[in-house]
Amino acid sequence: MTGIVPIVVAALFGAVVGSFLNVCIYRLPLGASVVWPGSACARCRRPLAWFENLPVVSYLVLRGKCRSCGEEISIRYPIVELITAAMFAIGWWYYGPSVLLASRLVLGCGLIVLFEIDREHQILPHAVTLPGILVGFLFSLFTEPGWQASLLGIVLGGGILLAIGYGYFLVRHEEGLGMGDFKMLAMIGAFLGWRLTLVTLMMASLVGSLVGLILIVARRGDMKSALPFGTFLALGAAGAAMVGAGALDWYLSLW
Ligand SMILES: [Zn+2]
Repeated sequence: MTGIVPIVVAALFGAVVGSFLNVCIYRLPLGASVVWPGSACARCRRPLAWFENLPVVSYLVLRGKCRSCGEEISIRYPIVELITAAMFAIGWWYYGPSVLLASRLVLGCGLIVLFEIDREHQILPHAVTLPGILVGFLFSLFTEPGWQASLLGIVLGGGILLAIGYGYFLVRHEEGLGMGDFKMLAMIGAFLGWRLTLVTLMMASLVGSLVGLILIVARRGDMKSALPFGTFLALGAAGAAMVGAGALDWYLSLW
């Protein structure tokens, strides 16, 4: 199916999914159920009417404020909805209807949730990473990267960060990497396979170092500021999924 209509439908569906991802981002760190009860204002607790729950549109109509108490609604809501909508639209356009598309979108949704929760709270909930490892492996039985590469990705992705984290602990006697980080990279490995897991790690380290340097230069942090590595892993995995294994070949050709 080509043409503009399916892409628009994919975007609309993506916006609705994005709305659910917002619920996950808000509730998972609180340990609350993501399916019940319905959405309510974070301050006055008034349940939202259906027309206050429309992705992006409601935020614009309400001008970013709760109708009852005037509490500001985070700009995160429409941003997450727009990014998810764009991801679904571009994914449909690029992959077409396929198991690979489903696999990439499920991973993408997980990455969006982990990116934002890690950025806000510096945690990576097991409720996302552990099922993610299983789901990624199950997808690999039917599509890229194949189950052997997926299994290697889980072991390599989890193992590398576990080793680095353990080594850092032995040397510095403090935790450098969160325990969530290695489960997150294992999840990425399950979906993308070991090759793209290496690309993910390279990209995440690169982006993380750049942001760290910028913060130090801007004097807004020091060498020990804890940067949420999961946030950079999410960016790295998104980059790796897009540029493919070509980046790894290029990198290895430099040596
Ligand atoms: Zn309110």
